[in-house]
Amino acid sequence: MSGPRERLVVIGGDAAGMSAAAQARRLRSAPELEVVVLEQGGDVSFSACGIPYWVGGQVAGRAELIARTPAEFAAQDITVHTGTRVAGIDLDAGSVVTGSGTRYSYDALVVGTGGRPARPPVPGLDAPGVFGVHRLDDGAAVRTAIDAGARRGLVLGGGYIGLEMAEALQRRGLEVTVVLADPLPMQLLDADMGKRVCAGLRAMGMAVHTDQAVREVLVDSAGRACGVRTDVGSYDADLVVLGLGMGPEVTLAAEAGLALGTTGAIEVDHSQRCRDHPEVFAAGDCAQTFSRITGEPAHVALGTHANKQGRVAGSVIGGRPARFPGVLGTAVTKVGNLEIARTGLCTTQAEQAGFGYRTDTIEATTRAGYFPGAEEIAVKLISERGSGRLLGAQIVGGPGSGKRIDVLATAIWASMTAEDVAGTDLSYAPPFSPVYDPVAVAARAVSRTEQG
Ligand SMILES: Cc1cc2nc3c(=O)[nH]c(=O)nc-3n(C[C@H](O)[C@H](O)[C@H](O)COP(=O)(O)OP(=O)(O)OC[C@H]3O[C@@H](n4cnc5c(N)ncnc54)[C@H](O)[C@@H]3O)c2cc1C
Repeated sequence: MSGPRERLVVIGGDAAGMSAAAQARRLRSAPELEVVVLEQGGDVSFSACGIPYWVGGQVAGRAELIARTPAEFAAQDITVHTGTRVAGIDLDAGSVVTGSGTRYSYDALVVGTGGRPARPPVPGLDAPGVFGVHRLDDGAAVRTAIDAGARRGLVLGGGYIGLEMAEALQRRGLEVTVVLADPLPMQLLDADMGKRVCAGLRAMGMAVHTDQAVREVLVDSAGRACGVRTDVGSYDADLVVLGLGMGPEVTLAAEAGLALGTTGAIEVDHSQRCRDHPEVFAAGDCAQTFSRITGEPAHVALGTHANKQGRVAGSVIGGRPARFPGVLGTAVTKVGNLEIARTGLCTTQAEQAGFGYRTDTIEATTRAGYFPGAEEIAVKLISERGSGRLLGAQIVGGPGSGKRIDVLATAIWASMTAEDVAGTDLSYAPPFSPVYDPVAVAARAVSRTEQG
């Protein structure tokens, strides 16, 4: 019997890697293409996005965060080796070598090594009681610390992972302190919207300390984390959670000589192919992408892009041309009842890109004002002065607010103006929105004044 004609090797078995593997397999059958995934951890196809909700008790168990197991992939003729770290890529030979010395040659390679959580070089960061939140094992470790009786949780960082973890800790009954080096949480929101988030956290009973960089994780006599010291003060804690942002994990790629882009992530073309190595693809948090609005390089570590980019790579490897269309940076999160969403350019980004822009912010309610459960919502639009083209949008408000960002993301994607959005046929019934949806109200505010 003759062996497969070609082999695809995938490094990293989560969103990007498994999407690539599954899509290549859909397009090319097993006798033609062997698909081998090498994953250093114990799980593949897991949802890091679900970790805060598992820690917080809304998701019952770890198994629920695993979309598909290696056995399920094996049934699709995708071979998955877990516990297998790739130690090197030999681009000239077209092979990878694992930590234990096994070599796999490839005809096509997908690098899906993901992200690397930021860890500032401060003393005490490696002490027991300090937790990153990246893999399912991290979630398990935080749960164990809570079950062991932690009462005070301290979150370092005010990005969405930090805030989701702050909510999780509070749900589990911990007193929560959030400490951040920035002036406000959620740096990709404008300051006026960030202030709403900050006020929301404080209204939930969290202590929020802004504008102070962490200098040290304090440890007790047993060497365990017991707080942090910043350049302003010290804060006690039984556990410290890191939510300081995510960079690309590019160690392997850089050592192999794959080109990195200006963002520090792996440089790829619109088909996710690496520069100078058309047989090598990169996708997900390790790969550089580009802004759909400005065309400029971007690194946006989100699962939504990782899945799509993996699929693009898998399509191309499977013989079907595909292109990744770029990102707007659309994101949504929640902390308690406060929903937070953004898309496109914030004002800083609009300015950097050289746009003449204007901003309009409206306040409204999520449902008809008289309908039970109507909550406050603020919608901010950033639009191009003169043309009225939407460049960005931000939403902060109660339940029912966040996913409205998708209307605005779609509008920006389609280069619509505020006037276009104001006139769009959006749905209405009292339990869902006021007669004019807050999104349309915001768009009308722009188009009314933009037209003079
Ligand atoms: C707490 C949390 C919440 C999140 N919430 C959201 C959300 O709500 N929405 C959203 O869109 N995104 C969210 N994200 C981001 C999302 O999880 C990531 O963008 C996505 O997982 C990236 O997928 P990836 O496949 O590129 O990388 P990863 O998920 O990081 O997977 C990379 C894999 O490669 C493996 N690997 C790395 N190096 C090697 C090597 N040398 N050899 C073998 N294997 C290797 C790793 O073990 C890992 O399994 C969240 C992330 C976190 C941490």
